[in-house]
Amino acid sequence: MDIHEHQAKAILGEFGVPVPRGGLAYSPEQAAFRARELGGRAVIKAQVHSGGRGEAGGVKLCDDPEAARAFAIELLGQTLVTKQTGAYGKRIDRLWVEEASDIDRELYLGFVLDRKSERIMIVASASGGMEIEDLAEEAPDSLIRMVIDPAVGLADFHARELAFRLGLSGAQISEMVTVLRACYRAYRDLDAMMVEINPLVVRPDGTLVALDAKMSFDTNALFRRPEIAALRDPGQEDPRESYAFDHNLAYVGLDGDIGCIINGAGLAMASMDMIQLAGGAPANFLDIGGGASPERVCQAFRTVLSDTNVRVILVNIFAGINRCDWIANGVIQAYRDLNLNVPVVVRLAGTNVEAGRRLIAESGLPIVVAATLAEAAEAAVAARAQGIAAQ
Ligand code: GDP
Ligand code: MN
Repeated sequence: MDIHEHQAKAILGEFGVPVPRGGLAYSPEQAAFRARELGGRAVIKAQVHSGGRGEAGGVKLCDDPEAARAFAIELLGQTLVTKQTGAYGKRIDRLWVEEASDIDRELYLGFVLDRKSERIMIVASASGGMEIEDLAEEAPDSLIRMVIDPAVGLADFHARELAFRLGLSGAQISEMVTVLRACYRAYRDLDAMMVEINPLVVRPDGTLVALDAKMSFDTNALFRRPEIAALRDPGQEDPRESYAFDHNLAYVGLDGDIGCIINGAGLAMASMDMIQLAGGAPANFLDIGGGASPERVCQAFRTVLSDTNVRVILVNIFAGINRCDWIANGVIQAYRDLNLNVPVVVRLAGTNVEAGRRLIAESGLPIVVAATLAEAAEAAVAARAQGIAAQ
């Protein structure tokens, strides 16, 4: 789960990272007021869950409250399309108004989970300001990586070494140690997946300040971090994924048009591969999980159908904990309740498979039943092609 820049700054600030003063604005009047509070000159920043806002016109240094008001009028209610948002962009409904900082140097600092070493890793660079993807491409040699041993934590001498390698000196080194320790503690104590400060700025007076901040959290740990869960902003999420999140379904939206309802992540991945092999493209990943009641099957159908690109739905269940008759009942109920107007292909295997198939046959609904995964994928691709030809 991602959070907004201003939320990440508040969290990191509490842990000891120096952050600029600022305040939120939901209207142009408020933006002007906030700028006046900060002495007139202020940076206005669109709060959307994305980087690359600067390049996309979502960040501006305004010289006086009037300029702040004018820029707020321009931004609020619009969608910001950045390199990271995709073509749909993200809606701007709040602004962060911050005291302007003078910049001497821009550094990059990130904390990520390194799956290879199963540890938290620091990634840093003396060439901040650029997105990490661009840095990795354009200045890969500038990247410094440091893996943290969880038994020891982040040792001061490691932090100092990193500060040296970033070209910091004197009092900056102990400031950097403070920043690194604060980020590490915030990451570890709050079940974060990512902390990024880009740019971490050296001001002309030599002091450090986090000009930007980004944090994302492990959704599987949110149950024990209610204060983090409360920071969620569904307005920034893919609407398809919000509905699924609210109903506890593991769903990831994709670009294709064959909707998938599958149990088990492995089978879901395999089914998506089979669809591609048969010449189609999946609209989503959806793992319905074990023990799926007819209600849950209906919620899965709703989730898949909230994507208007979907032209056919493929249900593929290998029932171990699940029962094929439950799934069949769910499919039949969804078909009737949701007035389905896209073809449905069902492949059932495992517990109570005969009963499941019988229920579907007796329903009289035009549901295609496939015996194997390959057959199901081919039937889905064929049904999609027929549907498009008929239009
Ligand atoms: P991002 O583009 O979404 O990563 O947003 P950032 O918060 O990183 O802002 C983009 C860029 O705006 C930064 O890299 C800075 O160069 C610039 N910027 C942001 N705040 C200030 C500031 O207070 N003073 C100055 N001079 N530039 C700023
Ligand atoms: Mn940034």
